[in-house]
Amino acid sequence: MSRVYNFSAGPSTLPESVLQKAGAEIMDYHGSGQSVMEMSHRSKWFDDIIKEAEKLMRELYKVPDNYKVLFLQGGASAQFSAIPLNFMNGSGKADYIITGQWAKKAFQEAQKYGDVVAAASSADKTFTYIPKTKPEDFRDDADYVYICMNNTIYGTVYKELPPVGDKVLIADVSSCALSEPLDISKFGVVYFGAQKNVAPAGLVVVIVREDLLGNARDICPVMMNYKIQADADSLYNTPPCWTIYICKLVLDWIKEEFGSLEAMKAHNEKKAAILYNFLDNSKMFHGTVVPEDRSLMNVPFVTDSEELNAKFIKEATEAGFVNLKGHRTVGGMRASIYNAMPIEGVEKLVEFMAEFEKENM
Ligand SMILES: *Cc1c(COP(=O)(O)O)cnc(C)c1O
Repeated sequence: MSRVYNFSAGPSTLPESVLQKAGAEIMDYHGSGQSVMEMSHRSKWFDDIIKEAEKLMRELYKVPDNYKVLFLQGGASAQFSAIPLNFMNGSGKADYIITGQWAKKAFQEAQKYGDVVAAASSADKTFTYIPKTKPEDFRDDADYVYICMNNTIYGTVYKELPPVGDKVLIADVSSCALSEPLDISKFGVVYFGAQKNVAPAGLVVVIVREDLLGNARDICPVMMNYKIQADADSLYNTPPCWTIYICKLVLDWIKEEFGSLEAMKAHNEKKAAILYNFLDNSKMFHGTVVPEDRSLMNVPFVTDSEELNAKFIKEATEAGFVNLKGHRTVGGMRASIYNAMPIEGVEKLVEFMAEFEKENM
């Protein structure tokens, strides 16, 4: 069996030991005589899985006791609607910072439900930086301020949270989930689609401060009502059991391999530095993001020629470095180097790039 190095932005590579464990348990989970794919979501086995997943999530993220951790469906995109429906419930106003396509999609969806403005944007320079904001940039009576923490397509990340005064801060952390510590107490809500860094597609995790629950609009679909989901311990209906199980295995893996998100971050910094150092010294390949806002997870880069980009992507794919093509809206290349990408994968990619540069200069 030969596995490729998969630089996909999502669904993305998972730890090999997690895949092996899931494979070993696929016919008979812990003596149940069934796969987790087949068992009742009300069974004792699954109850242990979801409780353990929540426990590990709380432990790794140091989630304060006054926050709920929900395991839901609909992906990150369903939360674009769920957030205004649950939280745009005071003035009916919300302020969004537009740092890329995912923030923009969330912003456009929220406009259906109230008075929504873009408080700042980095669209002027193709989202290659994080706009600086001050607390005065947000409306006094905004129900919340919304950010996308790590911009998967453009490769920027908030290294420091925008100061929002006493306003509720809501963040989409889909593509940097569990890659580094987060002070959850600074947020009203953080959420992440699992298929970037945590599990296969089909699961979204929402961490929400309890006092914000219970004021959803009447029209909020029951499946998007966080209070109802919280009261049902994420079992209002059949949850994505298999994906929650893999999520639990990934959390086990982080804990066993790294011990903490501080250690996970140190590992990710070391790994990303290999690629950024190469890009900074290359005559052919260039990173596209301003250095101070570079993501540890998604690294977009280009050459000066479309032809060379295409040749590089083709030859890299043949050599076993797959999914390096940039997002269809920006072109060029992008290496997504999530938690599960081994350091060796980035070292070998850089060797390959150096060789390609030598041959094509
Ligand atoms: C991938 C992604 C999304 C969309 O996720 P879906 O689960 O496909 O809806 C939203 N936000 C960010 C930051 C992403 O990376």
